[in-house]
Amino acid sequence: MPPRRVIGIDAGGTKLLGGVVDEELVVHHRVRRQWRGADRQETLDIILDAVEEVRAAAPDVAAVGFGLPALVDVETGASVWSNHLPIDGVPFRDLMSERLGLPVAVDNDANVAVLAEHRHGAAQGADHAVMIALGTGIGGGLILGGQLYRGARGFGGELGHLVVDHDGEDCPGDCPGRGCLEVLASGTAIGRAGEAIAMEQPDSTLGRRAAGGGEITGGLVTELAHDGDEQSRELIARIGERLGAGLTGLVNAFDPEVVVIGGGAVAAGELLLTPARAVVAERALPPIAERVRIVPAHFGDESGMLGAAIVALETPG
Ligand SMILES: [Zn+2]
Repeated sequence: MPPRRVIGIDAGGTKLLGGVVDEELVVHHRVRRQWRGADRQETLDIILDAVEEVRAAAPDVAAVGFGLPALVDVETGASVWSNHLPIDGVPFRDLMSERLGLPVAVDNDANVAVLAEHRHGAAQGADHAVMIALGTGIGGGLILGGQLYRGARGFGGELGHLVVDHDGEDCPGDCPGRGCLEVLASGTAIGRAGEAIAMEQPDSTLGRRAAGGGEITGGLVTELAHDGDEQSRELIARIGERLGAGLTGLVNAFDPEVVVIGGGAVAAGELLLTPARAVVAERALPPIAERVRIVPAHFGDESGMLGAAIVALETPG
């Protein structure tokens, strides 16, 4: 009998990443979509289209798993509320299983990401792990006592909305908070800080890129930093320090063995993580700071897709 294969879809705030995944977590076909600014119907259509594309390459798939940037009711598979996608109140699991004719599993994107890292990646063997996924926003996932921690109604682990700055800027999207970690240290925050430098210093590398019509994104700043642009490196170090401030609170709260940093912005690698570790080492309670490891996700920006596949593999069908 051929190995069971499923489709895993990580639906992020501005892009979708998916693939056909087997029981060994080998990815056979990948699909990507961008959807910034899409409305509810367009978003759902893009998701369905992406699933159908990979399904055409692997018609034998047994189920589909979705990681959504939303508070998900795991009993019903409904998307209750989302900060970045227009899918509030969508009965996601029922809708997708009806349209696709396949068993469907739905969970929060960072919850499935930490599941993948805990089972097979950077948090393997840890009973207590914190995951931060840096992208359009900041997703969070917690493994406590060896189990995924969900809170009272399944909405827990939203670590991106940990308030770091009481008087800080309004949180982007629909979060009513201010000074959330997400405002300070997401991939979007890297891009916004890059835009500010481009405006203030038109002669800088970032300024020249902006003048040439290029959009200043977190990805571009990261690329320039890796190429040695000093201002971009400093900018990412500053974001890393802010991330470290958020991590300081989290490690003090949970005393984890490991903190896993994932999501697209982890492409910045040590440029981001070294300053974050330095702040934790300096500011967290010493017996906690001495033991905690802060590491990049083993699966890079694919933890969410693989985690979505894991929950699909575990779906009875
Ligand atoms: Zn917030």
